[in-house]
Amino acid sequence: MSKDYLKNAGLGTKVINIGIDSDPTHGAVMPPIYLTTNYSFEGFGKKRTYDYGRSGNPNRDIIAEVIAELEGGVGAVMTASGLAALDLLWQDLPGNRRVVVPHDCYGGTQRLLNARARQGLIKVVYVDQGDDAAIEAALSEPTALFLLETPSNPLMRLIDLEKLIALGHKAGAKVAVDNTFLSPALQNPVRFGADFVVHSTTKYINGHSDVIGGALVCTTAEDVTLYRWWANCVGATAAPFDSYLTLRGVRTLFVRVRQQQQSAQSVAEFLYAHPKVKTVHYPGLPSHPQHELAKKQQAGFGAMMSFELAGGLEAVKQLFDHIELFSLAESLGGIESLIVHPASMTHAAMSAEALATAGISDGLIRLSIGLEEAPDLIAALERGLAQIA
Ligand code: PLP
Repeated sequence: MSKDYLKNAGLGTKVINIGIDSDPTHGAVMPPIYLTTNYSFEGFGKKRTYDYGRSGNPNRDIIAEVIAELEGGVGAVMTASGLAALDLLWQDLPGNRRVVVPHDCYGGTQRLLNARARQGLIKVVYVDQGDDAAIEAALSEPTALFLLETPSNPLMRLIDLEKLIALGHKAGAKVAVDNTFLSPALQNPVRFGADFVVHSTTKYINGHSDVIGGALVCTTAEDVTLYRWWANCVGATAAPFDSYLTLRGVRTLFVRVRQQQQSAQSVAEFLYAHPKVKTVHYPGLPSHPQHELAKKQQAGFGAMMSFELAGGLEAVKQLFDHIELFSLAESLGGIESLIVHPASMTHAAMSAEALATAGISDGLIRLSIGLEEAPDLIAALERGLAQIA
């Protein structure tokens, strides 16, 4: 059945309705899962929509349609992880294959970029994306790809998307934004001119911490075709069951994020007022240097934050030994609250020098706020902080 009525619907409606009641065989309201690896031909030379599971799968196509719609793209390529989605971006770069990236982007992204640079596939230039002069210098040479990440992980530094995307385009670069931290519920880089949006769907999009996955959203039909080709070529496409679970997760994205960021605001305000906390990095606090920018380019402040303990690494160890309710675990964006020490966990792949340049100190802690009740999260932090000598 044609779904023309969805054209003018809100994103909160589209995220629920795409793929619903679309099964021609039995009228299943929820799209069935197709675990099959292969599809028969109707006859000689008569291929149906799908032939082989690496190249195409109905569950992968539905979640791709939802994510492309949420991000305002033309299509999306669903991959086996966020890093696999990023890795597609530099498979086919034109010209000098120069990639400009923030020096405080996700540590795994840096490890991947450095590995591809060592192989000679790309040239990587790291830049402080908060330093206009450094960005202009980095983009003064022709550049194939400008990759942005906002807010940055774990320091929650924002960049002005409109301004930087325009600068990237001026340098002849295509611009990609890693939108993992906010999700399409809170930020839509395509609105500011981004050519690509990348997600680790492992995080908010799936939202239940039970799938590793990624998405590369493209804004032209040519790029959708090109990167689907590459995903199939290198075998990076998302599995059917992962796609099925991610679709189930994304249905509740808007309500989850709304609730999570409301709790995050309360937690951030509690930490800000605590004497053992030196700094809180959360864009929802008026003290955040880019609070106004967050209001302008985001639809909310999100549920990620980091804070620095006045007592440094010793204090971190004491808190981590006593913290309740928060799991001491990497990743983010799930229904459960998490606490990590970026320098030794999420960002351990970065050298000591790179950590110092990025401003990630030993006393820094990152929180991902889940769907538990805010007073319980605050009480857990209060009890944990009380254990610091
Ligand atoms: N981008 C960001 C901002 C991330 O935080 C992560 C993972 O933590 C990734 C990309 C990589 O995603 P994945 O772990 O799904 O490969």
